[in-house]
Amino acid sequence: MSVETVNPHTGLSEYRHELKAATEVEARLAAAAAAFPAWAALPLQTRGEHVRCAGAELRRRRDDIQRVMTAEMGKLRREALAEVEKCAGACDYYAEHAADYLRDTPIATEAASSYVCYEPIGCVMAVMPWNFPIWQVFRFLAPALMAGNVSVLKHASNVPRCADIIQEVLDAAGLPPGVFSVLHIDNAQAAEVLRDARVAAVTLTGSERAGRSIAANAGDQLKKCVMELGGSDAFVVLDDADLDMVVPAAVKSRFDNAGQTCIAAKRFVVTAGIADAFVERFVQAASQLRLGDPADEATTLAPMARQDLRDELHRQVEASIAAGAVPLLGCRPDDSHAGYPASILDAVAPGMPAYGEELFGPVASILRVADEAEAVQVANDTSFGLGGSVWTADAQAGERVARQLQCGAAFVNGIVRSDVRLPFGGSKRSGFGRELAEHGIHEFMNIKTIYVA
Ligand code: NAP
Repeated sequence: MSVETVNPHTGLSEYRHELKAATEVEARLAAAAAAFPAWAALPLQTRGEHVRCAGAELRRRRDDIQRVMTAEMGKLRREALAEVEKCAGACDYYAEHAADYLRDTPIATEAASSYVCYEPIGCVMAVMPWNFPIWQVFRFLAPALMAGNVSVLKHASNVPRCADIIQEVLDAAGLPPGVFSVLHIDNAQAAEVLRDARVAAVTLTGSERAGRSIAANAGDQLKKCVMELGGSDAFVVLDDADLDMVVPAAVKSRFDNAGQTCIAAKRFVVTAGIADAFVERFVQAASQLRLGDPADEATTLAPMARQDLRDELHRQVEASIAAGAVPLLGCRPDDSHAGYPASILDAVAPGMPAYGEELFGPVASILRVADEAEAVQVANDTSFGLGGSVWTADAQAGERVARQLQCGAAFVNGIVRSDVRLPFGGSKRSGFGRELAEHGIHEFMNIKTIYVA
């Protein structure tokens, strides 16, 4: 069976790839199992040399990689280049810092010696989305490889060439065969792979729907899983916020990557004293974004990745307007294949899709509230719990609100972002488990107690 990918800007067929036959999947799982003991036994420094080489290879091939990302999922050229550099930086970071994270941790007890050591667990299956088609993979993979694990990747079906390039990069970095393999498989085949005894665990970055299915399968097999799912982050603007700083941040946080970012600001929770001024300036700034060909340097808003995703977003917008939301900007698809203009909905209220669902595209929801207390209540009135931000001139108030937000990461006067030094992940229906930093690298390790009486 084959799968076709379509250029989001032109609507033209880009590429057709064949799904792997069962025999090929079997060969790759066997190779992963065979590769694991030797990979785990390598000195950390040697694994680090491979991971560093992968970073150098990413930098060397950045223009290739950018072109493929732009053609397959519509990423703007500058955003794609920044993503490649972020991945290369992650390779450097984990090559350098893994030893600190993996060092034995002494724990004082009555024993002569007691401590925790960290052991790799084997082959981790990664199921990844298209929105950051290189970063999502390296965010998991660089620490996993340093930990001594091996991996098979099932990437989103609309970014097969991104997956192939990742394979090429790691092959060029000299990874032994089987340490990392791409599997071009569908979701039914992915379920089979997860059930295979040679797969120890799974990490998914994707939608809640995929999370339910994969976590259920992992649970059935008693395999560890990490779920990085959707979000509807609040961007809380308090009365004393500096709009010169807040408005550009709001535009960037909502509209970068065509709004298709799990930790994008999606709900703008704005207190009464500043709401009118914020909304006026936000609409004005967002109206300057230019939707168009993502390969064109003049374009500042990328198309969405697929037409069906654009159509679903528009359905959510129309249903919200029918329920009383007020369109202030955009809110109507243009005539390109998958483009959607920068859009803003005001007066968003409970019961509307724009209030309760994730809007995974360039649409901002404005939720007006009376004061700080109501801002916290509304920001938390969601089933998601990925990130959130607070904008205020009063750092203490910012921290007070940040600590009350029910989410995996709360930023004060900063855009929520992932950073190799900080753990990343969600609460509530945004998932569980962590990636990055010490918490992330330990997720797929046996945390083992040694006690010498
Ligand atoms: P998706 O449809 O869930 O796809 C993600 C991956 O899961 C793809 O590889 C997909 O493969 C696979 N998949 C879907 N259903 C599956 C199943 N039943 N069994 C096995 N694999 C399955 O999500 P998406 O549309 O690509 O990504 C958007 C979502 O990801 C948003 O909700 C976004 O917020 C979330 N996200 C979260 C994070 C985070 O770190 N928390 C980061 C980025 C994105 P196919 O393509 O073959 O269906």
